[in-house]
Amino acid sequence: MGKFRYQFFLEAALELKANLAKEKIDLILLKDDENLAAKLKEICKAYEIEHTVTSYPRGVYEGNILGMLCELTAVFTCEDDNLVAMDELPFTELPKVFTPFRKEVEANLDVRDMTQDPLLKKFADSHAFSDTFELIKHPKHPNSAYPFTGGESAAHERLNYYIGESKAILEYKETRNELIGENYSSKLSAYLAVGNLSPVQVYYAIKGFENQVEKNDSTYWLLFELLWREYFMLVALQGQTDIYALKGIQNKGSKNYTNNIKKFEQWCTGNTEHPFINANMKELIATGYMSNRGRQNVASYLVHHLKVDWRWGATFFEKHLIDYDISLNWCNWMYVAGVGNNTRNKVFDPTLQQERYDPESAYCRLWNR
Ligand SMILES: Cc1cc2nc3c(=O)[nH]c(=O)nc-3n(C[C@H](O)[C@H](O)[C@H](O)COP(=O)(O)OP(=O)(O)OC[C@H]3O[C@@H](n4cnc5c(N)ncnc54)[C@H](O)[C@@H]3O)c2cc1C
Repeated sequence: MGKFRYQFFLEAALELKANLAKEKIDLILLKDDENLAAKLKEICKAYEIEHTVTSYPRGVYEGNILGMLCELTAVFTCEDDNLVAMDELPFTELPKVFTPFRKEVEANLDVRDMTQDPLLKKFADSHAFSDTFELIKHPKHPNSAYPFTGGESAAHERLNYYIGESKAILEYKETRNELIGENYSSKLSAYLAVGNLSPVQVYYAIKGFENQVEKNDSTYWLLFELLWREYFMLVALQGQTDIYALKGIQNKGSKNYTNNIKKFEQWCTGNTEHPFINANMKELIATGYMSNRGRQNVASYLVHHLKVDWRWGATFFEKHLIDYDISLNWCNWMYVAGVGNNTRNKVFDPTLQQERYDPESAYCRLWNR
């Protein structure tokens, strides 16, 4: 994990630990290292744990960790990070592209009520088991579009601000392709990724706003984007390890990549021949965030212009993005590389994109100093 991603995640985890402590519940934080299986075994034995309740694992390797637990306790999973439970989906086979998925889901959308707090068993103090984690507060870049702190309280603050207080959601459809500032898009991604917010909470915040204040194309569009999230989670789940394969889920011939290491390094550090690409990469490294417009452009540039294996780029994003999410990252990269859920292969021309989305070069000037 890059330093900003690590910091955001730890802020979120430590706030959860502090909130649970108020209820006299301890949160044991463990490092995912080669001793994990032994540590889990020790903890299950010490507390005589018979049942484990956990979120549904979205990635194959995360599922393997759950496999370790299955050998120790009975495991129950709950789907707490999606809008529609898998067995309530209105089809037996997942559509290969997004639009039919969206239309079917929208026509049948019945989002579950927000649930009560889960009933948690009160553990005694368990410090003996916790690994140590040091939270280093890296200074936030003054131009960061995502200067927020990880944690549930900050997540709700942002949700309330973006939807309620500022009403910025009313312009979302028009502003979502912008590049500078906190409010051109919701900036909820990292909170959704680490689990500080559930999409159900976001859904009801939008619906509440639509009922009480105003409903327009923009309020709808935020839900539309959440359905992309929903879709990619299912694609990743179905794709298993294929989402990490060069040929992706399409499993057909892939491009001829030349994988020039120097070109890849220039891309990573924001030193390519294109200022628009460079500005976006520099923003990512300096803040841990990049706009959706930027992500599409730098990914397309790496794959189609520099001819570097798309998975190198996806791995770089995995390290740096504070909102890194297995499904969203790998499925979006597959899409750009033409090995995912696409019907056509779109190549972005960075010069045209810059003219359109950064006509005064304000964004390029901000990051290419
Ligand atoms: C190559 C590439 C890699 C990406 N990797 C990630 C990632 O690791 N984690 C991540 O959260 N997003 C990823 N995205 C999607 C998107 O860029 C971010 O979700 C978005 O920029 C986050 O900012 P926001 O919360 O302000 O988004 P908003 O525009 O406000 O959107 C609201 C929410 O909708 C969902 N959403 C928006 N765009 C997409 C999309 N293209 N696909 C799926 N769901 C979407 C996200 O949950 C987002 O938080 C990636 C996109 C690309 C092109």
